[in-house]
Amino acid sequence: MKVDAIQDGIVIDHIAAGCGMKLYHLLGLDALDVPVAMITNVVSGKRGRKDIIKIDADLPVSLDVVGYVDPEATVNIIRKGELMEKKRVELPERLVNVIRCKNPRCITSCEQELDQIFRLADREKMEYRCLYCETRAAGI
Ligand SMILES: [Zn+2]
Repeated sequence: MKVDAIQDGIVIDHIAAGCGMKLYHLLGLDALDVPVAMITNVVSGKRGRKDIIKIDADLPVSLDVVGYVDPEATVNIIRKGELMEKKRVELPERLVNVIRCKNPRCITSCEQELDQIFRLADREKMEYRCLYCETRAAGI
């Protein structure tokens, strides 16, 4: 894959340096059979260093997950080799089935069919809590 020549795909740019791999896993890109390029520690004028993920496939990327990992990241949609759309993300109010509650007594631990839902409890601290038991999510 030519990293700079994506025809139809997605470029997630301006990810805080060191968060690229976390985002890669949370988006489930490791489980997909599509070409993905991870570029880490790129010098960026705006933020010092950044990570970039390039996905050479037209697939839906959860803006909630990107916003959860880094609300400053941007999602660029590439069509026919051109930038078609640049999407901004923000911290989502809710995270559904992105992270798991680590409280062993949480109802989601025994009732597997329940969605794992976290709500944004504190925007300043970027803190999420389990909707069912209020357990705080581990940070990024
Ligand atoms: Zn819980």
